[in-house]
Amino acid sequence: MRFKDLSHLKRPEPLTITLGNLPQHILMTKYAKDKAFKISERVGAIFEKSFEWYGFTLANTDHPELITDIGLPQNDLNLQDYTTLGSQRIAEFQESLPEDLLINGWIHSHGDLNYRHFSKTDEQNHVTVLDFVAARTRKPLAKKEIAIQDLVLLEKDRFVETDLERGSICLITDGPITEAKIMETIYGSFCYSIVIGDKGWHEQEIHCREMGILSGHTTVRSQAANIEFVDTGRSLSQSYINELSNEVEEKIKAHTDPPPEMIERM
Ligand SMILES: [Zn+2]
Repeated sequence: MRFKDLSHLKRPEPLTITLGNLPQHILMTKYAKDKAFKISERVGAIFEKSFEWYGFTLANTDHPELITDIGLPQNDLNLQDYTTLGSQRIAEFQESLPEDLLINGWIHSHGDLNYRHFSKTDEQNHVTVLDFVAARTRKPLAKKEIAIQDLVLLEKDRFVETDLERGSICLITDGPITEAKIMETIYGSFCYSIVIGDKGWHEQEIHCREMGILSGHTTVRSQAANIEFVDTGRSLSQSYINELSNEVEEKIKAHTDPPPEMIERM
């Protein structure tokens, strides 16, 4: 028995037109990087011990891909909440920000531990942060054709109810047409995750979500990424470092019991 060549029956690839891209690497100002490591240093100096802390990476709304600052929320004493970021906590922090700043990710420290990976708890936090920031970092990535098997074209005021029984989708137009393509917008959102250590190391990932606005088709992926540091000339002044020390003292609570993440690593 011979099979006929079926290649001619293959449906053509849906038409896709690229409109934009999600970041492939992380952009961060040198100022934001220096501030992150300064927070770790201040934590060590104030509490005379290295503690983990977390903060948010911030960007200007006109350039959501560039981390320009680090926002330090109240870090909880409550151990469960300390490493598990809740969307309520993120929402409160976003509301406290000026309107031209947005959260584009989160950053945390593993203190003086040489644990240079994201833990299971961290992975859950990525999802929470992405859920929260997705609407603000959202941009159109492509227009993609939705392949419709049996599209029915009807003309306004010129069809009868039984015409609607046919087809999976029907398009009603104000004039006669014989062919139509439905193109949906694929929106993409991202958030950054950075983990740093007291010795100066950092590891980072980008988390991306793409969603078709009509089909609802959603893909999520995480990828390790490089950071490109951008020198904007802004630096940490001594008076700002003093201010930051006060902020650290106020927002980071020393606790003696290990948080769940630390237990997870043992
Ligand atoms: Zn961690």
